[in-house]
Amino acid sequence: MSQATTLTLLAQGSEGIYRVELRWAADKLMISCDCRAGIFNKLCKHKTGVLAGDIDILANTDEQEPSKAMAEAQAMLAKAGLESVTEFSTQLRALEAEKDILERKIKNLKAVFAKQIAAGFSVRP
Ligand SMILES: [Zn+2]
Repeated sequence: MSQATTLTLLAQGSEGIYRVELRWAADKLMISCDCRAGIFNKLCKHKTGVLAGDIDILANTDEQEPSKAMAEAQAMLAKAGLESVTEFSTQLRALEAEKDILERKIKNLKAVFAKQIAAGFSVRP
């Protein structure tokens, strides 16, 4: 299986649009992203978003129709047999969602405690 196909997806990031590239090199599917984490080969949310098939990660621009772009990406991933990576991405995203919930709980608890401290503690009788 040797293909000379390159697919570039536009991912919507917090600081602009990043380019996630899926590229066949020899018989390997290479995935890269030009965001600040991605350029150091870190697992950024743009790569994991594409791997997980999360259409919300893609930018909706004149150059890209998100559902069509994601369908092309998923077809390339399927050819590479990346089911296990997709499962990994799904697990990672579930854990990150749990982390977000815990971070909100911590923030709320700190706010409640800060109010108690600001209001002062009464002396026990
Ligand atoms: Zn990225």
